[in-house]
Amino acid sequence: MKYVIGNWKSNQNLTESLIWIDGIHALKPKFPADIAIILCLPFTDIAAFNHKIADLNIPIITGAQDVSHLAPGKHTGEITANMLGELVSYCIVGHSERRRDFNETSQMVAEKAKLLLENSITPIVCLDLPYLDEQIKELFQNNIDVSRCFFVYEPIAAIGTGHPLDPVEANHTTNQIGFLLDNVAPVLYGGSVTADNVKSFVDQSRIDGVLVGTDSLEPTLFAGIINSLI
Ligand code: PEP
Repeated sequence: MKYVIGNWKSNQNLTESLIWIDGIHALKPKFPADIAIILCLPFTDIAAFNHKIADLNIPIITGAQDVSHLAPGKHTGEITANMLGELVSYCIVGHSERRRDFNETSQMVAEKAKLLLENSITPIVCLDLPYLDEQIKELFQNNIDVSRCFFVYEPIAAIGTGHPLDPVEANHTTNQIGFLLDNVAPVLYGGSVTADNVKSFVDQSRIDGVLVGTDSLEPTLFAGIINSLI
């Protein structure tokens, strides 16, 4: 199985998210049976989005983009894994934008992964070379079952820049990540993936799929990525 994971980041309000579904529905991409499509949404969109894709029978699995590192309790404003458990099957943790803008640490990411797994949500752990070893070590130290996680190699220089990594180079690093994890978990690539280059990444022997930011926002671009994989 290969995976295409969309990450809308802080884009699309509720109305816009429902219009996006109409767009995908109209385009009728040929969802390949051996590729799972996961879309990580803003918290505010998830419930209504779930209802609408179920009504229209669109085979997209929903995810969140972050979760609190704290258990339920007196933490005003936090969205806990327990809350997300009723809504999503996946959740991104440790995206480099959260490390940059919210000072997230590898320890916090490990705590988030633990809480997600306790609530039957698959953590999608983002990694880049400067903190790759530290993050994986932190997961093991927190007794995280890495076989229940997904991992994404996301070189910061490739995110949102239109300059993707060379697929062979990306494959080399995903292979290294897989080795550090005893090859028990899927390892994906993320960074400026488009309909034109997605196949060159997904066809690599050690890349299990892609994480797509910018080109997940427009139905035509996202459908183009799905159709490129048929
Ligand atoms: C991302 O933010 O995780 C990402 C991969 O973005 P983009 O596809 O825009 O590079």
